[in-house]
Amino acid sequence: MSTRAPSSKRLYILLGDPVHHSLSPLLQNAAMRALGLDAVYVAIRAWEELVGPLMRSVSQLGGGGNVTVPHKGLAADSLDRASEAVTATGACNVFWWEDGTGLCGDNTDVQAFGTAAEAVLNSRLKGKRILLLGAGGAARAVACACVSAGAGVVDVLNRSATRAESLVFDLGDSRGILGTKSQDSELLQDYDLIVNATSLGLAPGDPLPLNPRTVGAEAVLDLVYSRDETPFVRAARGAGVRAEDGRRMLVEQAAASFKRWFRLEPPRDVMCRAVGITPCHTAADTIKRR
Ligand code: NDP
Repeated sequence: MSTRAPSSKRLYILLGDPVHHSLSPLLQNAAMRALGLDAVYVAIRAWEELVGPLMRSVSQLGGGGNVTVPHKGLAADSLDRASEAVTATGACNVFWWEDGTGLCGDNTDVQAFGTAAEAVLNSRLKGKRILLLGAGGAARAVACACVSAGAGVVDVLNRSATRAESLVFDLGDSRGILGTKSQDSELLQDYDLIVNATSLGLAPGDPLPLNPRTVGAEAVLDLVYSRDETPFVRAARGAGVRAEDGRRMLVEQAAASFKRWFRLEPPRDVMCRAVGITPCHTAADTIKRR
């Protein structure tokens, strides 16, 4: 008879649709293995009705998880306790259980975007002029991070103008740095950073969210990621613009999620290597290293 204790393996899940492209299982499992944790992380393509019940049952069993496109809003509505970032953005990307409180959630995309943006800018977001493409859950996290970092201007350009207007209405601050733009290239000039927070680039054959040759910007951050250059990153670099994809942000939101679940310092170097980017630890560290 085996003397080994029965497995207490904890389950962590990613809920979204699609999820086949996600690098989260790769980097979270690498981090869990590196720290010798008896846990596993799996991606589940989930439809709406499954999201709340799965979040609750997996968390009550001692695990937790992440939520991705298009379920972050639904995840926010399923929580017993939402963080400030969830309340501000209306989107939740990480969840776990706390006895006495229940299902808890946060939005670690906000802080993760700040770190990734400062890495590609090689300077702080404070005072910067930003063109934000998209007005969904990720765009709300970006706008929230820009407002709290003291960005100078954030112009929101989205296919659906009413959704862009709602974002500005919901997240606008007293300084009025958030506004909307239409796709008129003559007006789209002199930005420090263009952020692609649309889902364009996820599916093969998607058009570019914008032609980087028609817009004046110092740098591009594409929240979409792949193991190779994304089409938008390739187009931006071809136009002589510094550009990075969403893997740095992915690692940062994953590291913050890991901390919520295990209350341990996440092995960022392992996470970075798993997705093929150079390790860095904090925004300040990133800027210093460049
Ligand atoms: P949502 O579904 O909430 O929003 C999608 C956005 O894309 C909307 O602004 C939508 O415009 C726009 N869009 C979709 N299809 C088109 C199209 N054909 N033409 C123009 N615009 C389009 O998704 P999220 O905000 O949650 O995610 C957006 C992207 O960011 C995804 O690719 C996701 O993978 C990525 N992401 C990456 C992260 C990272 O860590 N790197 C973290 C979070 C997100 P409309 O309002 O008009 O429908």
